[in-house]
Amino acid sequence: MNIILLGPPGAGKGTQAKMLQDMFNLAKLSTGDMLRAEVSEGTPLGKKVQDIMTRGELVPDDIIIAMIRERIKEDDCKNGFILDGFPRTVAQAEALDKMLAAEKASLDYVVELKVDDAALVKRITGRFSCGKCGAGYHETFSPPKQAGICDACGSSEFVRRKDDSEETVVNRLKAYHAQTAPLLPYYTQKGILLSVDGMLDISMVSKQLEAIIGKKQPAAASARK
Ligand code: AMP
Repeated sequence: MNIILLGPPGAGKGTQAKMLQDMFNLAKLSTGDMLRAEVSEGTPLGKKVQDIMTRGELVPDDIIIAMIRERIKEDDCKNGFILDGFPRTVAQAEALDKMLAAEKASLDYVVELKVDDAALVKRITGRFSCGKCGAGYHETFSPPKQAGICDACGSSEFVRRKDDSEETVVNRLKAYHAQTAPLLPYYTQKGILLSVDGMLDISMVSKQLEAIIGKKQPAAASARK
């Protein structure tokens, strides 16, 4: 089963992708995480993309497409994957279609998480994560149970993404509306776009996704045999 989660930065794609990964035993592929790993390891690719990411602009399509092309060949993708943050342009979506066709695979679901821009700025600028285990938090919506201590691993080291500053968020939203939103009509035309209300609580959004994916999973799986 192959799924795309679409939506603006801060819509909750990463959180929901994690839930789907655990529930349906799928690989979670986040191009943002892959790029951040390159930056923190100081690789040539990381050096090339770090300023672009700090500005909140999109990394060139050829870099991203090459990265995903390699990643989906890995063993953990055999049972399917959830794409979080890819595709982000029509060129990336077209490249993905070709990659899947070459493997005789297809997309089972493209789900849009719908959230208002005003809510996104608040969500993004308040978020932080544990520097040790990566557990995610938000100053207002989901702070650690005990202030300053990670619920999951007890660490007191927290980090914020460099591009979660208010000024960069504005650019990231602009990039979303200009370059990524055209994917909505792209997948609508293919008849595979579904939308869920991303303004609801995390658990309510998960329930909507579970209802869509859990219900249709057997049909989609048998159709591919
Ligand atoms: P994300 O973690 O998905 O919010 O991505 C963080 C940043 O990585 C974005 O603002 C872009 O600079 C870059 N990035 C991630 N995925 C892509 C993509 N599919 N295409 C272009 N740039 C991307």
